[in-house]
Amino acid sequence: MRQAMVAGNWKMNGSSSSVSELISGINAGMGGISSTEVVVCPPYVYIPAVAAAISSSTVKLGAQNMCDRDSGAFTGEVAGPMLKDVGCEYVIIGHSERRALYGETDQVTAIKFAAALRNGLKPIFCIGETLEEREQGVTEAVIARQIDAMLEVEGVSSLANAVLAYEPVWAIGTGKTASPEQAQEVHAFIRSKIAGLDAGIAEGLRILYGGSMNAANAAELIAQSDIDGGLIGGASLKPADFLAICAAAEQA
Ligand code: PEP
Repeated sequence: MRQAMVAGNWKMNGSSSSVSELISGINAGMGGISSTEVVVCPPYVYIPAVAAAISSSTVKLGAQNMCDRDSGAFTGEVAGPMLKDVGCEYVIIGHSERRALYGETDQVTAIKFAAALRNGLKPIFCIGETLEEREQGVTEAVIARQIDAMLEVEGVSSLANAVLAYEPVWAIGTGKTASPEQAQEVHAFIRSKIAGLDAGIAEGLRILYGGSMNAANAAELIAQSDIDGGLIGGASLKPADFLAICAAAEQA
């Protein structure tokens, strides 16, 4: 039985006061959430404040990105040991915005994945096709290529300490969600691909869906047999919406 997970990717949003309000709202609604793992991923600069705010809550902490190196002359970067030091347990790797806007290739995401594991952080490894790729019928080939790049560096056993997030690029921040059937089809493909390498790892692997998941569509998506929760962007910025998604995961 896989534990459901809901992770909020706050992206580059917030201020000291709005972040404090957001995490207080989430903490206050955690009473009914006992079997779902809830994670928030604030912008780097707010991580210590959020870490303090969740010190007596079950909410866990993640980062949105990290450097592939552990220290040194890499101006502007943040390293895995630093994220560990300030209380992160998770780190998002290979988000489509990193891939599309900051040129992160499959190889870069693979070495960041390795850096996360090396530093005791659990990667939430994002994969997904663009609209053009879906229309060309190459969704599975794209997903397989993205996963294979990571497997080449770390091997399938590394997935025992990681989470995958299927995020169709055309659904992120667009209000267009994949239908539960569309999402389930890709999640099942991912799980069977991993099962071809290691059935036990595949069975235990959590695969989140991300892409305009919200309070209204979460229950139906998470009810699918291979969807183990969500990676949430926009809806994670409103405590009521985020908590409603957590409640949907709890029921599923
Ligand atoms: C995301 O950025 O990971 C995401 C899923 O965003 P949204 O929920 O806003 O589509």
